[in-house]
Amino acid sequence: MAKDYYGILGVSREATDDEIKRAYRKLARQYHPDVNPDPEAHNKFKEINAAYEVLSDDQKRQIVDLGGDPLAPGGGMPGGAGGAGPFVGFQDIMDAFFGTAAGGGSRGPRPRTRPGADAILRLELDLVETAFGVEAPITVDTAVLCTQCSGAGTAPGTHLATCEVCAGRGEVQSVQRTFLGQVVSSRPCQNCQGHGTVIPTPCPTCAGDGRIRTRRSLTVKIPAGVEDGMRIRLAQQGEVGPGGGTAGDLYVEIHERPHDVYSRKGDDLHCRVTLPMTAAALGTRMTIKTLDGEENIEVKPGTQPASTLRIRGKGVPHLRGQGRGELFVHLDVKTPTKLTADQERMLREFAKTRGEDVAELSKQGGFFSRMRDAFNGH
Ligand SMILES: [Zn+2]
Ligand SMILES: [Zn+2]
Repeated sequence: MAKDYYGILGVSREATDDEIKRAYRKLARQYHPDVNPDPEAHNKFKEINAAYEVLSDDQKRQIVDLGGDPLAPGGGMPGGAGGAGPFVGFQDIMDAFFGTAAGGGSRGPRPRTRPGADAILRLELDLVETAFGVEAPITVDTAVLCTQCSGAGTAPGTHLATCEVCAGRGEVQSVQRTFLGQVVSSRPCQNCQGHGTVIPTPCPTCAGDGRIRTRRSLTVKIPAGVEDGMRIRLAQQGEVGPGGGTAGDLYVEIHERPHDVYSRKGDDLHCRVTLPMTAAALGTRMTIKTLDGEENIEVKPGTQPASTLRIRGKGVPHLRGQGRGELFVHLDVKTPTKLTADQERMLREFAKTRGEDVAELSKQGGFFSRMRDAFNGH
């Protein structure tokens, strides 16, 4: 089911580009995490951005009108534009706030509450875990909301006070005389770091930051078929922002430990099995280990060195959709390096029955000289 992008922005399907832009700006001002600390607002803001990204792009909007979802994994429609993830240009966000192009001018006090940063964590997994999925315990080291002050930064029973230096404006102006005349410049107030307010009595737990660093234990659900380097996103499990701002996301990056038997290429697995010369000639049955347990395979008589056997469906499950990759067994045929006198005699007998004239190393002549003689017409 495709998302209702028109509904998210509250515009009709016939809306003009201008109407879409106006609706987006209005909602973005309302739900921006800087002005709306409610965690729900953070999600809503992301949703609004995604809807605007789609509806402001003719190609993506067309996909929506055809019933697809251009932001869905895999692109939504056959031949449609790929899903690039919700991203709206910085300029659009600035426009939403200041009405016109950003840059210069006064912006007023900086909010104390700001959104937190994303965090990333590396998770090492075995092949069996990436293949079949696992619920892995992780330890996360991030800033979390200070529970004593709920992010306000003030000690219990105390409040923020208006900054006396800037009178709450968050910035101070200075006038400089230059040879061009008077130049008025404004800069953030040093006394309040541009917030316009100060904390007379900081919260003893977080020292006024509204957040504290702590170590948490979480369980992350790894789906079957993930690959080395992939990232799993845990929404709002990243760093809590200053002033208790909405947490960023936590990305868990998968690192697959090398396996001692299998090497992985995509969803296919490869392994090597050494086979004695006699077994390759006569054919044999053998038992090999797969990810699912033991498997009996048959080696056909007359198997040549560097042959490959393919075992269907014994590779890694596909991450999206059904089915699995294959298991390729590469056969190395091993020639005996040392023979007893008896074995040598039997092997020479064997060669003779096949009409293969194998010269003895201790005697003159041999296979190569006979070849040359044959070419010279002897
Ligand atoms: Zn100030
Ligand atoms: Zn606190």
